[in-house]
Amino acid sequence: MFDPPIPGRHDVRICVVGGGGSGAALAYDLALRGFSVLLLEKGEFTSGTTGRHHGQLHSGARYAVGDRAIARECMEETLVLRRIVPEAIEYNGGIFAAIRDDEADYAPAFVSACLESGIPAREIPVTEARALEPVLNPALKRAVWVPDGTLDAYRLAASFLAAAAALGADLRAFTELVGIEVSDGRIRGGTVRGPDAREERVSFDVLVSATGAWAGRVGSLAGLDIPVTPAPGTMVAVRGRLSDLVLSRLAPPGDGDILVPQRGLSIIGSTQSRADSPEGILPTRAEIEFLRVRADELAPGFSRAPFHAAWAAARPLAGRAASDAEGRGISRDFAVLDHGAEGVSGMFTLIGGKATVLRAMARKAADAVCGFLDVEEPCRTADYPLPSWRAL
Ligand SMILES: Cc1cc2nc3c(=O)[nH]c(=O)nc-3n(C[C@H](O)[C@H](O)[C@H](O)COP(=O)(O)OP(=O)(O)OC[C@H]3O[C@@H](n4cnc5c(N)ncnc54)[C@H](O)[C@@H]3O)c2cc1C
Repeated sequence: MFDPPIPGRHDVRICVVGGGGSGAALAYDLALRGFSVLLLEKGEFTSGTTGRHHGQLHSGARYAVGDRAIARECMEETLVLRRIVPEAIEYNGGIFAAIRDDEADYAPAFVSACLESGIPAREIPVTEARALEPVLNPALKRAVWVPDGTLDAYRLAASFLAAAAALGADLRAFTELVGIEVSDGRIRGGTVRGPDAREERVSFDVLVSATGAWAGRVGSLAGLDIPVTPAPGTMVAVRGRLSDLVLSRLAPPGDGDILVPQRGLSIIGSTQSRADSPEGILPTRAEIEFLRVRADELAPGFSRAPFHAAWAAARPLAGRAASDAEGRGISRDFAVLDHGAEGVSGMFTLIGGKATVLRAMARKAADAVCGFLDVEEPCRTADYPLPSWRAL
């Protein structure tokens, strides 16, 4: 039975917009701090980027050389998620594989960066790596084991939503925020369009937009210019588990360099471009071909396995990019923007990040809300195992 204690109730209504992983974790965090929460999602829950990502539980190894702080946070969050929502996680581990000489040369810097970030990476003999994962390219030159894993994107978010609902949060799918009401520089409420297309006014005291790649659109409802770049990426899945561990290239982050086992599938990803809108993003034939070639370099035979699907989703990069190259330069970190200084007091935007750190993202946004309301309530979302996704 999921029944965490709520130390005190606050007479404040907070609207969270966006029913992806970030909004789900935030709705739970705020409800656990004693706030009345309304969560709006214009489609089905997880129908945005959350329901279409690669499903890697990042230990942070991928980011360690470039950004120790992001890597450390990933590692800490994987440990928390494994404890509070084990049902959504397959803790299988991962191997970073050097296929080329320059990748083999990258190993020492990679392992030290991981260790400095608190990630227990260790180089293992090539024979051991190939015994663990016979699908690995026989040209394998060096291999590093890391504590990566697989997460179930739907079940992870659904468990957070179930927890929020159990604490009384009002969760509304197929309900879009179509207007934001601001008067005297303060947020007052908004207009929502429900599943029957009827519009209704709702009042709330605080609004947090957790709308990922849609953050720009939602911000514009309040006249705000939000620095977010939708950055689409494509993934290709074949049937059958070619590996049980997550396989990555031992190299700086690039395209087509991660192969994730996901239930009965193997998924290679991804690519990165930029788009003006997160809607209607489709994979191109060239991207699919490119990914199949890249997958074969890691795990020869990928392209001969039965094709299952190809799809794309938009990363909500926190920053502005005019080109694909600029988009790659934007950090994978997240940000909480307080729009008070822009004349919309009581409105916040949570953007960027990764599914792996959804709980940390929610904590930072909820801390900002508490600071704004002058309420002292610590984050307690790491303290209790979540209810099953089935409860939703
Ligand atoms: C190709 C790719 C691969 C990735 N792989 C991984 C990975 O392996 N591991 C990892 O940890 N992360 C990964 N990520 C990152 C991860 O997917 C995202 O960081 C995360 O899913 C974002 O979740 P979110 O809740 O912030 O956004 P979303 O899931 O996009 O949620 C935003 C929601 O807001 C809703 N919305 C928008 N406007 C409105 C409105 N007006 N009213 C109501 N609702 C609205 C949308 O419908 C949407 O459901 C990947 C991303 C991409 C693109």
